Amino acid sequence: MVMTQRIAVLGATGSIGDSTLAILAAHSHDYEVYALSGYQRLDKLFALCQQFEPSRVCVPTADVDSFAQRLKNAGLMVDVVGGAKGLTELATDSQVDTVVAAIVGAAGLPSTLAAARAGKRILLANKEALVMAGQVLIEAVKTHHATLLPLDSEHNAIFQCLPAAIQQDNTQIHERNHGVRKLWLTASGGPFLQQSFAQMQQASVAEAVKHPNWSMGQKISVDSATMMNKGLELIEACHLFDLVESKINVVIHPQSIIHSMVEYSDGSFLAQLGSPDMKTPIAHALSYPARIDSGSQPLDLYALSGLEFIEPDLQKFACLRLARQAMQTGTQATIVLNAANEIAVAAFLAGQVRLTDIADINEQALTEIQVPLLDVNADIDDILAIDTAARRYTNGLITTMV
Ligand code: NAD
Ligand code: MG
Repeated sequence: MVMTQRIAVLGATGSIGDSTLAILAAHSHDYEVYALSGYQRLDKLFALCQQFEPSRVCVPTADVDSFAQRLKNAGLMVDVVGGAKGLTELATDSQVDTVVAAIVGAAGLPSTLAAARAGKRILLANKEALVMAGQVLIEAVKTHHATLLPLDSEHNAIFQCLPAAIQQDNTQIHERNHGVRKLWLTASGGPFLQQSFAQMQQASVAEAVKHPNWSMGQKISVDSATMMNKGLELIEACHLFDLVESKINVVIHPQSIIHSMVEYSDGSFLAQLGSPDMKTPIAHALSYPARIDSGSQPLDLYALSGLEFIEPDLQKFACLRLARQAMQTGTQATIVLNAANEIAVAAFLAGQVRLTDIADINEQALTEIQVPLLDVNADIDDILAIDTAARRYTNGLITTMV
């Protein structure tokens, strides 16, 4: 008999949350929605509670009482917990088998790490957790026999193109030499691929978040427009697959049909193709090593007119260059870059800075902030201290710009 997997979806009200819950709804015999979390849009979270009747839910601390009352009035028996502590409680709940880490930004790190330490199966969308704490998180996964499966479409594609031995143990990529020469991350190039830097400078928020192929949350959409997203993904890939950054190439592929590739020493390139729909990687990770119907539209190969590949322009997309540089410098630099970028993106969304200022702000933060070197024994407090310092610096820098 196949056991029902009990799932906690952290970040249930977001874009990844939507796609995940659509799959879980279609496979309700195999998966139980045990816990949900939301931060804004609590009306949406309430509707999800009505639809899925989870056992537990997490909201911001200030909303716990009113949300609990609302659920009670609707006749729903749900345990309501609050804040970061509540997220960790859900991530470590003994009833939970699988944690979908779909919170955006640094806010997703503590619960993801807690899930790893509790030995859970983690479906990771929250790339910022790896950018900030890659070594700590991977180490926790190994020590506590957790399982980490990437939801990010590129990393999920690479995972699918790697031999089973490496899928099960990322250090195998070196030890037995399965012939992996390079990884190729594909990037759409975002909405400004065909526009000049000057045009990009004038971009409105609406233009920047309008992605040509994917429908996503605001922060990652802006990151895609600056290609910081690919920079964060480069760092994410280094940690997930235990490779130095020079082993990972980025290629712009505007059609977003090939989601990434593995290059082997015999000259083979293995690629994973599919419609640009996050339901495919999510369904893969949910059911791995089996396969289930994701509900995404199959690719219509006859309708595809051509697949292009372009080398990224690192002057126009300086964030990609900065990510490589930060990865070479070390974890302290990737934490600074991630924090500065979160603050800069929020400032852009608030109309305080231009889209092209984001790279300048990130570069200045990387150059100016003096942070201690992190050694392999760094813990979460050391990481959060650097994150806080970088946010403080970047907020100050933006104040001088507006
Ligand atoms: P989103 O903005 O649509 O949703 C974010 C979720 O996080 C929401 O549920 C929100 O309530 C919650 N949240 C936000 N701030 C929070 C806080 N401080 N504390 C607790 N919860 C908080 O974002 P998304 O597009 O779904 O992206 C989620 C993560 O997945 C990001 O790390 C993103 O980079 C990654 N990702 C997204 C996509 C995509 O297609 N959307 C693809 C690959 C990776
Ligand atoms: Mg991606």
